Amino acid sequence: MEPHSRRKKGESDKEEEDERSSDLGVFNIGSIAEQVMFLENIGTSLLVSKNQLPELHQLMLEAAEILNVEPPDLYVRQSPTPNAYTLAISGKRPFVVVHTSLIELLSRKELQAVMAHELGHLKCDHGLWLTYANILSLGAYVIPGVGGFIASSIEEQLTRWLRAAELTCDRAALLVAQDPKLSGGCPSLVDQLNVDAFLEQARSYDKASSSPMGWYISNAQTRQLSHPLPVLRAREIDEWSRSREYNSLMKQAMPMNTLHKA
Ligand SMILES: [Zn+2]
Repeated sequence: MEPHSRRKKGESDKEEEDERSSDLGVFNIGSIAEQVMFLENIGTSLLVSKNQLPELHQLMLEAAEILNVEPPDLYVRQSPTPNAYTLAISGKRPFVVVHTSLIELLSRKELQAVMAHELGHLKCDHGLWLTYANILSLGAYVIPGVGGFIASSIEEQLTRWLRAAELTCDRAALLVAQDPKLSGGCPSLVDQLNVDAFLEQARSYDKASSSPMGWYISNAQTRQLSHPLPVLRAREIDEWSRSREYNSLMKQAMPMNTLHKA
């Protein structure tokens, strides 16, 4: 599914929006939830800039430069749940939110990979659908009941599309981090992490889910997920890091990196 695939020639953005709203049947509630989340976020979080947490600001600017995308606003939100997400609200500058606990958990390079993943969503224009997904997972605590209402309205196809979108954005993260290991998420153990053993785990998962019963169980487990299973994300990114496509992109990127360090 493409966010803009339903657009017809001559239709204004408003008409397009209306068309999507009737498709989902949740647009108006989604739109209110968006506004609530937007106001709630700017009211409670810290806006990062060159004068506020400049190191994080620099990480975002670098990642945006590598991916050739306009840097969004970056907010840091106090929360014990490690998380990062992007909200692209119609008519407003998109912004990325990173929770404090995620900053504590990750090394600076890993944090930049997370930012790059979020930039991937903006670069690929995943905005509208992604915002729904974020409302789905976060909205419930902002407006009680909304999360559940949207959840029941969202098609299985949308969650499948979202999982594919996540894999695309992992590639954006790799293009910035240039090291597939950086998805480890535990800096104190990073030296001991064995990527090959984790990929072996992915192979066991594939094997276990290849029988009819295994397939049924794994399908039931993943159908509602907005993100692919971590073990499968690791396998996908490892495969892509070895692909001709990635290597040719890295070759083209060499002059820019040299420029960057100069
Ligand atoms: Zn994502």
